[in-house]
Amino acid sequence: MRPNEILKQLGVDSIESGLVIGDAITPTVGETLEVRSPIDGTPLHQLKMATGEDVARAVDAAESAFLQWRKVPAPLRGELIRRYGDILRTHKATLGALVSWEVGKVTSEAEGEVQEMIDICDFAVGLSRQLYGLTIASERPSHRLAEQWHPLGPVGIISAFNFPVAVWCWNSALALVCGDPVIWKPSEKAPLCALACHQLLMKVIRDFPEAPAELSSVVVGLKDAGEAIASARGIPLVSATGSVPMGKAVGAKVGARLGRSLLELGGNNAMIVTPSADLDLAIRAIVFSAVGTAGQRCTTLRRLIVHESLKDQLVSKLQSIYKSLPIGNPLEPDTLVGPLIDEAAAKAYDKTLEKAGEQGGTVYNGGRYTDGPANGSYVRPALIEIGPDAEVVQTETFAPILYIISYTTFEEAIAIQNGVPQGLSSAIFTNDVREAEMFCGPAGSDCGIANVNIGTSGAEIGGAFGGEKETGGGRESGSDSWKNYMRRATNTINYSTDLPLAQGIKFDLKD
Ligand code: NAD
Repeated sequence: MRPNEILKQLGVDSIESGLVIGDAITPTVGETLEVRSPIDGTPLHQLKMATGEDVARAVDAAESAFLQWRKVPAPLRGELIRRYGDILRTHKATLGALVSWEVGKVTSEAEGEVQEMIDICDFAVGLSRQLYGLTIASERPSHRLAEQWHPLGPVGIISAFNFPVAVWCWNSALALVCGDPVIWKPSEKAPLCALACHQLLMKVIRDFPEAPAELSSVVVGLKDAGEAIASARGIPLVSATGSVPMGKAVGAKVGARLGRSLLELGGNNAMIVTPSADLDLAIRAIVFSAVGTAGQRCTTLRRLIVHESLKDQLVSKLQSIYKSLPIGNPLEPDTLVGPLIDEAAAKAYDKTLEKAGEQGGTVYNGGRYTDGPANGSYVRPALIEIGPDAEVVQTETFAPILYIISYTTFEEAIAIQNGVPQGLSSAIFTNDVREAEMFCGPAGSDCGIANVNIGTSGAEIGGAFGGEKETGGGRESGSDSWKNYMRRATNTINYSTDLPLAQGIKFDLKD
């Protein structure tokens, strides 16, 4: 399907402003954003961007919507998300095609991202009847001690380009069942996916009398729009996904007003391959984790920590697989590696390869791929043998570069794995139960995700997703991540005729 047909079907073709509050497409005075496909530079659309000042209008509208939505029973709020999941099922292929055109994902990964939206909707529907608080034993007679979870208020969502639909849905499906409106500042590299998700949600909201239109807004803009969200007092929770420098800036702004932030930032993910590993399994996991999405996942495998006895064998197998990887147009059914998001990303890739050479690395198979569509930035996934302390290994380059590091003892492998500033995803391939349990235990991987005999990327929505250290500490998606989107009230109810004080304190008044 051609892009103009996709945009028409998703209701985005006529949107010329980046400020969309509910049904209102509001004129803005920001710069014009020309959206082009990373596949081949095809112009997709153009619109005027919203500015930081426009954010205040979206916040006012969301605050009014909140007053109404917070009183709607949670299971009825879940019904809205059930219908949204249905509409996503109907539009899965079309929205998936837009993801491919706008950010260059291969079709199966693009549709997988939409499936992830559907999955989190299903999860959120069930959750809408399970926003449980605890009942706690009171130390006082005839007293009930309990906690309730209440809606929090408008949630600001700042998102990265590489998951242009799923990350918003992880946040918004939960926020909406929790009773919170959402304001979305998508990446300026993926605004059309954002507008499409919003338009599909509006189709459901329009037919839902209890839902105010202003439950959902999109603010397409640059960094200043994100900064305005971070500073807005009317937004009690800012969920921000992106690079570590972005997270530091947003976290500081939200913290300065004592708001809550949920930060999902860059990773530097590693896999340990031990002597007992099933190598065939490990190799499949390595290749998917390292080159899937052209190395542009936060969970992409960036460091392979392999036992010295296996290193030569593994490197030679990976080299031969890497040589035959199908690179090119992601819309072709056989392609596994699509383009990088833009030329700046490809230049960062070139620079890292150059630096790795200077820092003692041996580069295999890297370089530009020139047989792909013209006007796209295509690179060959690279393998680099290097020491663990090289500076390039400490930082995330958002491209398909896999560092290979050898180790001698298991303790050394864990130390290398944890010896970076980021802490998102990690994996071990081993058939030794002791190694597996040590890796998952308190002195093992220090990451938010620690896998055994599967790769670092491709998480399911049922678990809490996020990482430690510079990855930001946030958790979203499954498990009890919903608690981020609500406020907890502890209630103590006295149904006695006496007024006993806690801790046995006496405070008797004289008659
Ligand atoms: P980015 O940091 O450049 O941009 C992310 C978003 O933040 C964009 O919407 C951008 O406009 C906005 N932004 C940038 N600076 C800002 C500021 N100072 N204040 C407010 N908003 C600001 O990231 P990107 O290049 O779009 O995405 C790639 C990065 O995102 C990688 O580091 C990747 O690991 C990370 N990422 C993390 C996760 C996760 O769940 N941990 C998921 C996806 C991507």
